[in-house]
Amino acid sequence: MTDSKRLRIAVQKSGRLSDDSIALLKAIGVKLSIRDRLLIAHSTNEKIDLLRVRDDDIPGLVMDGVVDLGFIGENELEEKMLERKASGKPADYEVLRRLDYGGCRLSIAVPNEMPYAGVSSLEGKRVATTYPFLLERYFIEQNINAKAVMLTGSVEVAPRAGVADAICDLVSTGATLEANGLEEKEVIFRSKAVLIQRKDSELSDEKQALIERLAPRIDGVLLAKESKYIMLHAPKAEVEEVKSLLPGAENPTILPLAGSDDTVAVHVVSTETLFWETMEKLKALGCSSILVLPIEKMLG
Ligand code: ATP
Ligand code: MG
Repeated sequence: MTDSKRLRIAVQKSGRLSDDSIALLKAIGVKLSIRDRLLIAHSTNEKIDLLRVRDDDIPGLVMDGVVDLGFIGENELEEKMLERKASGKPADYEVLRRLDYGGCRLSIAVPNEMPYAGVSSLEGKRVATTYPFLLERYFIEQNINAKAVMLTGSVEVAPRAGVADAICDLVSTGATLEANGLEEKEVIFRSKAVLIQRKDSELSDEKQALIERLAPRIDGVLLAKESKYIMLHAPKAEVEEVKSLLPGAENPTILPLAGSDDTVAVHVVSTETLFWETMEKLKALGCSSILVLPIEKMLG
């Protein structure tokens, strides 16, 4: 069973957030031995246990202090927070880190044939959704008198089934909506995955220290993903011009090249990639051996 001295992290067992969350844990050096059917997985090198559950359960597990951390989509987190507040349950948490995956939006979509002239067209309508609290909050903000009809699945077929007039569901590409004869009209919430932490002072010093050791590694992984290492050979006379072309290259490293007095090597870590157009301009300036390399890890 779980040992209360080990940091407990909830992660979606199988779904859109699972692979990226596990990959992130591995990237920050947490070795895991996951057996597909088991609810709990242990880390072999850190005092960490993973609780593998449905994503719906993750906000509550963190808010009730059953786990210390959880990987969750902001949509599910915000919905559960509103739901728990409404029923008087603890709903506190802290966002430890915002992450770069699980991007989607919660949108209202209406059947293609339904006349739509803005949110006011939803007045008096029934809207099927898995996110009734987020939707009702939106109706209140917009001063619309409409009804959220809770469905836990197959939301997109609700209008055809006569269960609702419109829907409010998660969208990433819009292909599912289109396939069901629906048109996206209003984005009510934009979401990404986050790593949340229980909000109380009961965390032992040891667990707190572990979190403080791992959180900067997450920053390192995120930063490395969006950064590139750029190397090129440049004519000495053009170094200033070259610098001005390189994105985010205020302080490049300039190195002499053996056997060449008028050419130098320029190395720079950039938070943007180098576009083909810029590479062509550099080449036109006389640069050569232009390399753009991915960075695996970054610290400090
Ligand atoms: P579970 O069985 O764990 O309850 P689920 O069916 O509720 O799974 P998934 O479809 O795996 O959940 O989605 C989990 C989360 O992934 C969503 O809550 C959302 O934050 C994010 N997500 C990203 N893109 C999409 C998308 N196109 N559709 C739905 N969710 C998405
Ligand atoms: Mg779910």
